[in-house]
This record gives sequence, C-alpha cells and structure tokens, in this order.
Amino acid sequence: MPVLSRYPSGETQRYSEAALNLAEAAESLPVEAGSHRRGRVAAGVRPGLFETCANANCRSGWLHLWRSRSAPVFEGGWSCSAACTAARIDVALRREMDARGSAPEIHRHRIPLGLTMMEQGWITSAQLRRALEAQKAAGCGRLGQWLVRQSAVSEQQVTRALGLQWRSPVLGLEFHDPEGLTALLPRLFVDAFGALPLRVAVGKILYLGFEDRLDPVLALAVERMMRLRVESGLVRESIFRPAHTRMLSAKFPPVELIEAISEPALVQALTKRLEKCRPVESRLIRVHDCLWLRIWLRPQRGPLPDAGSIQDLICSVCAR
Ligand SMILES: [Zn+2]
Repeated sequence: MPVLSRYPSGETQRYSEAALNLAEAAESLPVEAGSHRRGRVAAGVRPGLFETCANANCRSGWLHLWRSRSAPVFEGGWSCSAACTAARIDVALRREMDARGSAPEIHRHRIPLGLTMMEQGWITSAQLRRALEAQKAAGCGRLGQWLVRQSAVSEQQVTRALGLQWRSPVLGLEFHDPEGLTALLPRLFVDAFGALPLRVAVGKILYLGFEDRLDPVLALAVERMMRLRVESGLVRESIFRPAHTRMLSAKFPPVELIEAISEPALVQALTKRLEKCRPVESRLIRVHDCLWLRIWLRPQRGPLPDAGSIQDLICSVCAR
C-alpha cells in the first residue's frame, strides 16, 4: 500500500500539483540587477555568485552573473534559474526512480523464526507446532508472541532469534531522547516503517531500531540523506512499543505531503518549493514508494540538523 494513502493528512497538506508551472516559480524570483539577494542563506556557505551553475546543460552562460541569486542549493550545487533547478531535480528524480529494485530491496531468504529457535535448541518441534496452531486459530499475532504466551521462550529469546534471522544486533534503549532525534527522519517514516531512531554515537553512527523486521531500504535512505552511518538492530518489543509511541508524540519538523499526477508535475512542484524557500542545501531520496525531499534552510552545525531549520516534503507520483 502506498505510504501516503496509509497516512491520512492531519497537520499536513495533500494536494495535486497538476496546475503548477515554472513561470509561476520564476515570477516569485525578481531579478534585481547589481544587487545580491542573500535571503536566509548564511554567510560562509553561500555558493559564490561567480560559481558555475550546477546544471550540466545550463544555457545561460555569462547571463547568470546578472541574476541576483545565491540559492537554491540542491544536492550541493547552485542553480542559476528556475529552469536549471528543475533540470537538476529531474535528473535526481530519474536517478532515484531508476534505482528501484536495486541491492537492498532484493528479497533475501531468511530461515523462519520458529526453525531458527529450534536450531538453537530453544524450542521443540511440539512447542513450535502448538504455537503455529494457536496463531492459525486466532488469525492474528506473531509467532514469537505466541511462543512467549505459551511460555515456550522468553521475550529476550524471541528478539535474539530475530537478530539471528536478520543477522543484526539486538539494541538497547538506554537514555533514549525522542525529542532530540526528531530531525533525523520524518514522523511518517517512524510511523509507517516502524523505525525508531535510538541515538547518534560519536557524531557519526545512527542506531536505528526495529521491532521485528529491519528495513534496509529506509536505513540506506537515511544514511544517504543524513550522511551518517546507519546501524540497524532489533529492540525488544516491550521496550520498543512505549518508546515508539513516545517518539510519535514528539514534535517533528514540518512536513508536507505531495501527490503529483506525473513525474514532470512533481519536478515542477519541487522546483517551485526550492525557488521559494532558497535552501542552503536540499536532497532528494527515494524511500520505498515515495520520494523524500529534505530542505535545510540554514547550515547544519554538527551531526544533527536543528529541527527548526529543516523541512521535509514526502511525495508520491500517482500510478496510472
Ligand atoms: Zn543554469
């Protein structure tokens, strides 16, 4: 199920971008010959006015020197006009869409949980059969939960078995500070993909917790977006659930949901947004069936951005 459709908009807006056009974006950007528009771009990070436009096919030549622009910056490069911003977003969108089905998404066979626990000698075949029958009769609940309920194993053993199954560590939740971690990924991803940012270690490693299955696609997306190494692991259900609920009730940076009717419409919508807010950096990364555009309005100082200086757009393109 598409992520956006399973997440009814509350504080966020959802709209179609069919009517947007670049002329509108360009109009919001008056050219003031001889003056240097600085906007919210902080000194020291502003791309030089005489730097080359990052659009490989830019046709403005020296013309851009007369354009009073220093932003927006998209994926580390400045673009001289709305048309060049659109061209760069278009290239990034194609890159992200073309990468679908690549490495982390390829299904890898895993030994079923019950067999993993039998292999470890933690349960007998009779205990496994009884749990499977109870699960089938009830029509709900995970196998691990039934095994715990029937006192065949402890909750810790289930988490350890999940760790063996996923070849991942079991992570703890000491000193968890949800409020301090909300700038790492949008609430929608925490909610829809069951991810829980646990902590950032030595300013370089983000520990990302999951309850019963890892999400390598999300982990890679966060790694690329945040430029942090992401270590995924499993967290025991009884401590994961309350922490996840607490995290969801924390205050996250603003997010806007966009459903575009086509890829060109999405390029236009994102261009309009970047031209309007003139970020000092922005990046576009696909996460499962949606695209995540993150905007930095101010330079990031340290491993975590200031939650007040970033905005997220989560976008999907309607299937025809
Ligand atoms: Zn250009």
